[in-house]
Amino acid sequence: MGATLKEVEVLIVGQGLAGSLLAYFLEKAGLSFHVIDNDGQHSASRKAAGLINPVTGRNFVKTWKADALLPFARQTYRDLESMLGARFYHERTIYRALASIKEENDWLARAGEAGYEAYMGPCHQGMELAPGRLSPTPAYGETLKSAQLMVADFLDYFQNYLLGKFQLSKNKFHYSNLQLSESTLEYAGIRAKTLFFCEGYGLKSNPWFDYLPMRGDKGEALIVDFPGLDFEQIVKQNKTFIAPASSGKHWVGATYAWNFEHDEPTEAAKQQLFEELGAFYPAEKRVVEHWAAIRPTVKDRRPLIGPHPEHPQLWVFNGLGTKGASLAPFWAHHLVEVLQKKAILDAEVDIQRFALLAPHKS
Ligand SMILES: Cc1cc2nc3c(=O)[nH]c(=O)nc-3n(C[C@H](O)[C@H](O)[C@H](O)COP(=O)(O)OP(=O)(O)OC[C@H]3O[C@@H](n4cnc5c(N)ncnc54)[C@H](O)[C@@H]3O)c2cc1C
Repeated sequence: MGATLKEVEVLIVGQGLAGSLLAYFLEKAGLSFHVIDNDGQHSASRKAAGLINPVTGRNFVKTWKADALLPFARQTYRDLESMLGARFYHERTIYRALASIKEENDWLARAGEAGYEAYMGPCHQGMELAPGRLSPTPAYGETLKSAQLMVADFLDYFQNYLLGKFQLSKNKFHYSNLQLSESTLEYAGIRAKTLFFCEGYGLKSNPWFDYLPMRGDKGEALIVDFPGLDFEQIVKQNKTFIAPASSGKHWVGATYAWNFEHDEPTEAAKQQLFEELGAFYPAEKRVVEHWAAIRPTVKDRRPLIGPHPEHPQLWVFNGLGTKGASLAPFWAHHLVEVLQKKAILDAEVDIQRFALLAPHKS
């Protein structure tokens, strides 16, 4: 007699932010699922600072769909905290260093524009956030409604939750072992109706979705010990953030490189980060860890969601780029609504926009 098949509605490959949030909303919708993850200790999610920053860039522009995404993310992470009995979502102010009177004026002008009042607070004149440690800067702009998800902590709690319910296997998914039939699929003793690929940059090796234009941006970050620094908020100067890390140390990063040869940390990036940090934090510090991972970025900076053009039971949920913590809850929820036929897939994220790149039917 053959081994019994486990039957679920949905099979998920990948337990980063995308796979985890998708699993969470499937559970809320009462749909059965199983997750396969190769214990991605080097995944982008596990190296991220988890910052949720509503206003970004040199021109202080609101991030895409901030008004919808951010409150939704907040509520979702709060609900997850209740469900898992843990804390990993923290409302934290991002203090953005403004290097000149012009920058300060630009900040204040933008803060006065309609739709920006909720996200941009006052400038703090000459405020020293960490007296005697951070170099004084002309001003700091106070970002409102910013937050930090301690991503690795959340993933660990959620992983244990799934393991406890036998809904997660810690294995590599081998594409060649997937058996597809008309309306169903089978993999390693599991039969499902739909499979969602949430492999982050691993999408590059996916034989069904490797046609999608994922660029990939390597990011490196340092975990730094600042002896005596007791500061729970976030500081940004130029392109570098200092944010709390769950170890009691601080996360400092990150670099951006779209041209890279491997996903390992490099000495050049470490030097760059240490120099940038030294320019605004001259006090004592010690690098204790150095991380690198590849962000799943897409050329039009929008998520990649949708079914395979020839195999409707295979879906992708990816392309969260540099903003997985803000994007994952809203789009995972939307995806589950689409699966339940309660919503139509939003054209802005639908991979149909890259249909011309798909291999032709044989
Ligand atoms: C240095 C750095 C800093 C960042 N900072 C922030 C930030 O402050 N805020 C923010 O919102 N975002 C940030 N990001 C981006 C964020 O990390 C990503 O948007 C997000 O984590 C992507 O999540 P994902 O689940 O799509 O992919 P991943 O996190 O890469 O997860 C994919 C998972 O799939 C698994 N997998 C892949 N292939 C297979 C296979 N064949 N079999 C089994 N499992 C497989 C992997 O092991 C992994 O667990 C940062 C990224 C980096 C690198």
